[in-house]
Amino acid sequence: MPQLAQRVGRAKPSAIMVIAEKARQLKAAGRDIISFSIGVPNFLPGEHVYAAAREALSHDSGQYGSNRGAEPLLDAFLKHIEALGFRGYGRMNLSIGIGAKQVLYNLAEALLDEGDEIAFAAPFWTTYRDIADIVGAKANILHCGPERNYKLVPAQLDAALARRPKVFLFNNPSNPTGMVYTREEIAALADVLADHPDTWIVTDDIYNSMVFDGIGYHNFVFARPELKDRLVFVDSLSKTYGMPGWRVGLMAGPEAVARAVTTLNSNHITSLPEVITAAAVAALAGPQDVPQAKCAEFAAKRDTVVAALAAIPGVVCPRPQGAFYAFPDISAAFGRRHGDTPIDSDVAFCAALLEAKGVACVPGSAFGEPRAMRISYTCPAAQLQPGLERIQAFFAELT
Ligand code: PLP
Repeated sequence: MPQLAQRVGRAKPSAIMVIAEKARQLKAAGRDIISFSIGVPNFLPGEHVYAAAREALSHDSGQYGSNRGAEPLLDAFLKHIEALGFRGYGRMNLSIGIGAKQVLYNLAEALLDEGDEIAFAAPFWTTYRDIADIVGAKANILHCGPERNYKLVPAQLDAALARRPKVFLFNNPSNPTGMVYTREEIAALADVLADHPDTWIVTDDIYNSMVFDGIGYHNFVFARPELKDRLVFVDSLSKTYGMPGWRVGLMAGPEAVARAVTTLNSNHITSLPEVITAAAVAALAGPQDVPQAKCAEFAAKRDTVVAALAAIPGVVCPRPQGAFYAFPDISAAFGRRHGDTPIDSDVAFCAALLEAKGVACVPGSAFGEPRAMRISYTCPAAQLQPGLERIQAFFAELT
């Protein structure tokens, strides 16, 4: 058989999917499983989104659409980002993708040549490293452990940018930690970015509508508007509107970058379907009560998760302030046993927890932090407390 391309060998299956699959198998075998593993929202968009999709279907042209995105979608996104605080953007600054994941992949193709460096913080969303690998870029991973609340600090960014990476990729609010940068923290990092003009900045901020405690969403370009020439903001409808399966991602950035992504779209995907576009416009331009209600619900669930973890001796969980993830440091369990099972790593911990208690969490090493695990708290409210109690019981049983 002929060989597959080397770039496929470099891509690894997502560790999140591996755990989720194991949980599904145990469930199919009749086990009572509570899944804290996949980061999918547990809600649907409002009825107006479905009504718009049905209406579009009734006069669908069945034709290809715009590589950049249909004008009504671009206009709705422009209003959306203006409300977030982005100023001075027009349609030519925008482009679309099949979810933020494909926008990010296009950006990697548009901005990185083979061998170029891309810098990003760990813990990171797993796909960042995979996309870098696929396009043959070198990842410079900036470790931000639990002792510093998983946040990048200016001196660390300054040192990384001194290596003149082609791209600095940033994620706020964070998957997997739920951390959110304050206005002051963003401004301090923006000052550093302003001193390093050779690096593109990509901010993957798809959880921007899920920020708690009144912190608000902040972007480097709000603090230093001159960064607009080399900053790309990535957004998605997946988490904000409960539409992950509709696959709508968007970007706003310099015209040259939007043009490059649009050209790649013309070769990769052509366009978004008309029905999806109509639904996306309805979500962005329609009533925002679903995202607002969900944000309040997630903030309350966050409190439940943090309180349960704080009650476990040795577990440290920096307090998440956005998205729907918590990322406790579980390394106090390493070197101990659960029954006959030695717990020597995050992977062993998560495997034993799933086997013994039927709770699925993702090992932190998938996100570049092997001392932790990710809890995604999008499960039904009735499962949250029982799932957390099982984690508490698991810890209590360690010897
Ligand atoms: N960026 C981050 C940080 C994510 O967590 C995810 C999905 O989990 C994505 C991007 C991809 O989102 P989409 O569903 O729009 O492809």
